[in-house]
Order: sequence, then C-alpha cells, then structure tokens
Amino acid sequence: MKNIVLIGLSGSGKSTLGAAVAERFGLDFFDTDAETERGAGMSIAQIFSEYGEARFREWEAAAAQAAARRKGCVIATGGGVILRAENLRALRHNGRVVFLDRPPVEIANDLDVRARPLLAADAGRIHELSRARRERYLACADVCLPCADGLRDAFERLCAFVRGAYPDADFAVIGDPVGHSLSPAIHNAVFAALGISDAYRAIHVPAGGLEDFARRARASRLRGFNVTIPHKQSIIQFLDETDEEARLCGAVNTVRVRDGRLTGYNTDAEGLLRAFGRRGRAYGGGDIAILGAGGAAAGIAVKAAREGARRITIFAGRRPEKAGELARRALGAAGPHKPELVAAEMKPDALRAGLCDADILINATPLGMRGMADDHASLAFLEYLPARALVCDLIYDPPQTKFLREAAARGLETMNGLDMLVAQALLADEIFLGRALNAAALYAIAAAAISRKKRDGGASREAFGAE
Ligand code: NAP
Repeated sequence: MKNIVLIGLSGSGKSTLGAAVAERFGLDFFDTDAETERGAGMSIAQIFSEYGEARFREWEAAAAQAAARRKGCVIATGGGVILRAENLRALRHNGRVVFLDRPPVEIANDLDVRARPLLAADAGRIHELSRARRERYLACADVCLPCADGLRDAFERLCAFVRGAYPDADFAVIGDPVGHSLSPAIHNAVFAALGISDAYRAIHVPAGGLEDFARRARASRLRGFNVTIPHKQSIIQFLDETDEEARLCGAVNTVRVRDGRLTGYNTDAEGLLRAFGRRGRAYGGGDIAILGAGGAAAGIAVKAAREGARRITIFAGRRPEKAGELARRALGAAGPHKPELVAAEMKPDALRAGLCDADILINATPLGMRGMADDHASLAFLEYLPARALVCDLIYDPPQTKFLREAAARGLETMNGLDMLVAQALLADEIFLGRALNAAALYAIAAAAISRKKRDGGASREAFGAE
C-alpha cells in the first residue's frame, strides 16, 4: 500500500494536516523533521546553528529514506526535502506525492519563525523560497492541492484525495468515524503472517456517502471491506445480496466484492460465539440476557435463538419497542426448538426476573465505552445473577469497563469485547480470501497487533475535531 507524502513550503501545514488525516483514516504518521530532531537529539534551529544547513540536509536525507521504507503511512516532509533528487526518488518509489500549495503570504502571517531557521532573520523570505521552489514542488508532485482557503478546507481536500485513492487498497473498513478502528492493524498483521501483500486500510465514509462508495467499490480493485458504525444496517440497500445470517439479523459487517457484485455477511455474532467457545461456553440450552437492542444485540439474539438457547431476554436501551421487534425477529429465526423470548425494560423487577437464572449476560450498549459520556446509571442489577453467570461487555476500550469491574468484584467471570473483535476479523478474512484459516495460530498475531497499535497510539484525535 502506497504512502501519502506531503511536500510544500515550511509552514504550509504538512505536519498538522498529515497528523489529522492519518488519524482520520487510521494510518500511521511519520514526520521527517521530527525524526531528524529525534535522531540529532536537538531542535532543527539548534542543528542549523551548531552544525549548519549542509549537515542538516544529511540528516534530513536519512529521515526521508527511513520514511520511504514505511508502507501505508502519511509522511510530512521538511520544506527542503525536494532539494535532493535521491530523497524524492525514495519517497516516490512507494508513495503518492501531494504538494500542499499554500500561498506564501498566508504562511508569512501565521508563521512561528523561531522553529524555522531559514526564515528566522526575515519571515518575508518565504516569498523568495516560494519563487525558487514552487516549480520544483509542482514537478515532483502527483497532485497539487490548493490550500488558499484555510487549513480546514485543505484538510477536507486532502481527505477527499485519500478517499479517492481507495482503489489502491485490496481491503478496507468503512465507517464514520473510522480513525479509531483497530481493523487495519489486525488485518494487515494477519495478511503479513500469511505472506499476502494485500493492503487493508480505513476509509472514512460519512452518512450520505454510502451509495457513492458502493458504486465506486464495484469498479475499484477492492476485494472486500468491513463495515462499522453507523453503516451496518444502511449498507444493505446498496448490496446485491446478503447471506442468510446477515439477512436474519438485518446487519452486515463484511462485504465481499467479486466481479462488480457486493455480497454482505455478518461475522460479529459468530465471532462472539467463538470467543465464548474459547472459554467453554455456548448458547445451547442456556439462559441468555442481552442489554441493548441495536445492531450487535440483533446478531447475538438471532444467533442464540438458532443455537438452541432455552431463554433469551432482551433489555431495551432507550426505546422499548426495539426490544419487542428484536424478540420477534429472533423467534422467527429460531429452528424447531423455539426459545422463550422476553422483551423487557431495564427496570428493577424486569432485571431481577431476567437475570436470576442467566448463564450469560452481555452488554450490547455503548454505555461505558471510551469517549462516551454516559455509563450505566446503576449496576445493582448484577447482584441478581447466579454465581455461574459469565458477564460479557462487547466494549474493548477501555479493557475493563465499570460494568465488568463491578461484576468481577462480585466474584463473577468476566470478558471484554477483544476476543470477539479478533474472532470476527478472522472470519471476515476467511470470506475475503475464500479459504479457511488457522484461527488458533492467527489469534495471537492479531492480538499482538492490537496491543502494538494501542501502545504506539496515534496522532492527536483533537486535531480539527476529526473523530
Ligand atoms: P447500536 O446499533 O447503536 O445499538 C446500541 C444499543 O445501545 C441500542 O439498543 C441503544 O438503544 C442502546 N443505547 C445507546 N445509548 C444508550 C444510552 N445512553 N442509554 C441506554 N441505552 C443506550 O450499536 P451496536 O453496533 O449494537 O454496538 C453496541 C456496542 O457493541 C458498542 O459499544 C460497540 O462498540 C460494541 N461492539 C463490539 C464489537 C466487538 O467486536 N467487540 C462488535 C460490534 C459492536 P436505543 O436504540 O434505544 O437508543
């Protein structure tokens, strides 16, 4: 997968925009100036004053070579990176070069010259640099991005460019927001372990952009994509067909693209079932309680009904009618042995009745998720559960929600959503690649990729309120 390489004058917004766009699309970000400073152990201004420009260009060239060895990364370069042909050769080899064409007059107005040695004596020198370098930037770039209307406008244009480049990927996850998604880290690690060079990336598709995306996906080199919030249900109308599981639960999280046709699948519910299986748990003959009646709850309720659960209680989130609708859907999907299906509200009496004999309780609401202001108003209902109950939260960030903490404090077995996340991703890869995979071996690889991604973090989420 190609890098996105940003070039342009000092102060044209390469670092700020690069970090924000990387965050928006879930890509890694690499800043050659920051790398040069890290390598030298001092600021660029200090390098210039202690060693001079020639030495700085040597270090900058080393940083450009290091950047060029990356894959699927957004790279912000120093303004003078184009002065050496070998820098450009390396960066172009595996990258699409974008010139951020910001008028020098705007740069001069905004610039903090303390960090820009070439402009420290005279900020007006930016005009001279522009005259000397602009032709070169244009000649080096695959695309010139006009940035005369402010950084937010430039950000949107750059996002559009990255989005338009999606046929460069073989697989993707689409959502809004999508920058938080761990899917690129998981799938790329799995592909690398399988010796497959297929690239998987995050593509930001806003509400209203789904139809256009589906049309372009048919004609692109995409071979499949995953679907995350908020599109799991709305994508269905733009697909050619869905498999039975996706049809029954009314949600799609995996789409296979073949010969211009889009086929939808749902691996979420089977992923959770496999995650339970790793702990010796199953739905068959069990009493299953679900908090929430949204997309994930639908898949789980339908799956539990088809797997022979004895009783399924669905507690509505905020809209009671949703639990009733889901109960009817799950009952209709069940095989010959119909489970008892109960739709209830999260009120003390109903919670006591629904939980007192539960084998598994699943939180399928976003309550307690990082970035979500709301949490469960009270968790006193956990006391109704029998000691054998497994308490599961589909949330994996944070790894231990208050819901799980309190359940563990009561001595109950708990599990978060990480195992489900990995299992559904591996099932999606089987659909994408059209063959069975060794899930046990790949599980550790995918889990390690998630830990690495979480440890390394990413660029600031606050930038432009991107996510
Ligand atoms: P969804 O379709 O939006 O459904 C969310 C459910 O939670 C709805 O029933 C909703 O009720 C309820 N809800 C939302 N906000 C609430 C609040 N403030 N108070 C009470 N109830 C509230 O979302 P989803 O796709 O089912 O996802 C649910 C959770 O599962 C999310 O945290 C998601 O990240 C997680 N998930 C994890 C995995 C994994 O691999 N681990 C996979 C899928 C989903 P109303 O509809 O009545 O508002």
